[in-house]
Amino acid sequence: MEIVKEKKRIALCSILVNLFLSVLKIVAGALSGSAALLADGIHSLADLAASLSVYAGIVISNMKVKGFPYGLYKVENIISLVSAFAIFFAGYEIVKETLFSEKVIRVKNLPVALGAVILTILITYLFSRYERKKGEELNSPSLIADSEHVKTDMLSSIVVLAGILGNYFGFPVVEKVAVVVIVLLVFHAGYEIMVEALKVLLDASIDKETLDDIKETILSHPLVSEVKSITGRSSGSYKFIEAEVSVLTNDLEKAHNIVHEVEAKVKREHPFIEKIIIHFEPVEKKERLFAVPVDGDKVCGRFAECPEILILKNESGKLKEVKRIKNPAVNLKFGKCIELVEFLAKEGVDCIAVNNLPLGKGVIYALSAYNIGMKLITEEELNRFIGELSKNPYCEPPLAVWSFYTCDIAQGGSVENTRAN
Ligand SMILES: [Zn+2]
Repeated sequence: MEIVKEKKRIALCSILVNLFLSVLKIVAGALSGSAALLADGIHSLADLAASLSVYAGIVISNMKVKGFPYGLYKVENIISLVSAFAIFFAGYEIVKETLFSEKVIRVKNLPVALGAVILTILITYLFSRYERKKGEELNSPSLIADSEHVKTDMLSSIVVLAGILGNYFGFPVVEKVAVVVIVLLVFHAGYEIMVEALKVLLDASIDKETLDDIKETILSHPLVSEVKSITGRSSGSYKFIEAEVSVLTNDLEKAHNIVHEVEAKVKREHPFIEKIIIHFEPVEKKERLFAVPVDGDKVCGRFAECPEILILKNESGKLKEVKRIKNPAVNLKFGKCIELVEFLAKEGVDCIAVNNLPLGKGVIYALSAYNIGMKLITEEELNRFIGELSKNPYCEPPLAVWSFYTCDIAQGGSVENTRAN
């Protein structure tokens, strides 16, 4: 809410500055007869229209209206489009009045014209600095871009200054050149506003870099294995994202939670996202992967302390060796087991072999969270073990094993209860 207030304040400030500049330049231009100053005033009117649509966008995007479930964000873009046409018309008027008219207008009343231009240069300089500072504070690219625009406006006012002086000292052609420069800037401003508005109104995709960034955020969730598709469109200053992801679980509720976590993270890390819709589906599995801790050609019983992990693939009833991986957790001081479980989950492992049950609750929960089953093993010769595993590859879900185990000690009660007694 604070950010919205701050943005409203800056937008309002921009409206006031542009309103003041337009009136100042147009009045001074009319009084002094300077076409360049008049043209620059029209440019300020265009900027005024743009800043009004920014303000309208901020207000409208916080409005909820019945009958418009997707929001009224695009009103901002319609306002922009209309203002773009107004800017083109103004540009055309300047060209008609100054460049193609035969009469030569001499600048009179030099102090008025000079005063207006110098005041303009001062105001635009200060306002550009203010916007840049606020843009950096609020981490807003649109504000920083606008501060660059205001800086260009300051430069164009310097061109106007040259034009006025040239005209006054008997070279009206200098002012004509100044007018051409300003008119080009006017058309450019109008064109940019028009293209941006049309793109949003026609639901053009948002830029690829932003989409790639969002994709990366989604993939950073450990249980998301793939982003199958991602699209995004803008509406006003806001973005709407749709993504299709594969999640590493078959449990509907868990998948639902994953999606909520991902949505929250994307919204937290990327500004101006109004809504993100994520469709999920479980990863299709034709084969199952087994992770067996090994030490040379023996099965190793000490799960996280074994030097290597063998990955086996079960394809149509036969187990084949896929690869051997160095145990990445072997040198950790704490949390070896959980680190290894997470690593294996990323490898897509469905079942891990352990030598005894009391692995610790954390590991059991980690296995359960990643939907990995477990298989009890004893230290023995590897080939014989693989043979046994091929005959009976069933892998039990860890929580079932755990609750069976705790019930066994506590005889119906929980472990904690037994201890308290
Ligand atoms: Zn401008």
